[in-house]
Amino acid sequence: MKKIVSAGEIVVEIMADQLDQSLAKPGLLHGPFPSGAPAIFIAQAARLGQPTGLISAVGEDDFGQMNIDRLRDWGADVSAVTVHKGQATGTAFVAYRADGSRHFVFNIKNSAAGLMEIGYAAQALLAGADHFHVMGSSLFSERAIAVILAGIEAVKRRGGTVSFDPNIRKEMIELPGMREALYQVLARTDLFLPSGEELFIFTKAEDEASAVAEMLQRGISAVIVKKGSEGAVYYEPHRQVAAAGFSVREVDPTGAGDCFGAGFVSLWLRGAQPEEALKFACACGALAVTRKGPMEGIATFAEIQAFISEATEGSAS
Ligand code: ATP
Ligand code: MG
Repeated sequence: MKKIVSAGEIVVEIMADQLDQSLAKPGLLHGPFPSGAPAIFIAQAARLGQPTGLISAVGEDDFGQMNIDRLRDWGADVSAVTVHKGQATGTAFVAYRADGSRHFVFNIKNSAAGLMEIGYAAQALLAGADHFHVMGSSLFSERAIAVILAGIEAVKRRGGTVSFDPNIRKEMIELPGMREALYQVLARTDLFLPSGEELFIFTKAEDEASAVAEMLQRGISAVIVKKGSEGAVYYEPHRQVAAAGFSVREVDPTGAGDCFGAGFVSLWLRGAQPEEALKFACACGALAVTRKGPMEGIATFAEIQAFISEATEGSAS
């Protein structure tokens, strides 16, 4: 089976208890939960039985240990996750707003995650990788950008493929070098996985169809647009496939896009048709939102298959 590698931030996520809770005031919080977009993606792909590995860095602390344990327990290769004494693992505090938006306080760039590098372990991991996944949120510093571009090149040299989820938070887009780096990654992308407005960061177009057409003209093989509870749409030149969202009770939306992406890419690498990969990915995303904590709703291949059969039978009867 093809091996997926990603590089980027490992963090713990700590979320506000109440809707519209201010992070500028003392209040009740939940967590820490293992998190970080590339870590969630790799954890979901690993849980599906895909060979996976992550290039990242954590501090020598409980938060780092929790993340490493989670990834290792689910079968991911953590040999290129370096542990730094005297540094703290990254953190992301999140508060949900009543309008569905989210407010974050991040400590990533100045955390241990900022120290990720292409050392011997990362080189060894990349030497066995068939696919590289990029999370836009991971392009947070010059150093992180260099690691990711090196990862892309290593995998492309081996004849591998690249997927890219822009995953941009408004707090991040103006970081130095971010915009340029997003375009550099895009130029090497085979599968592009934006959600909602992220599609329009890179295009002049103002409607979905023209924006997608613009992206496909750049040489991207397929664009998969994520639409939250409404599901997702797959586009390739001359073909379009839509999948409805599964009906679930949303407890915590964070991580849905990462789990969706991991589901889609894993099935795509196994040679599945877009219809099947899209439905499977939607099921990964739907299950992800049913638990508090970005990795807590990650399900196994068998659990996802069972969920799809149940949902399909339910809607047929
Ligand atoms: P995030 O960046 O927060 O991880 P995203 O914006 O990248 O998320 P979404 O569109 O929110 O991605 O979610 C990805 C996929 O997960 C959707 O396309 C859908 O299939 C599934 N999904 C998300 N939320 C729900 C929901 N409430 N009910 C059912 N399915 C959902
Ligand atoms: Mg996302």
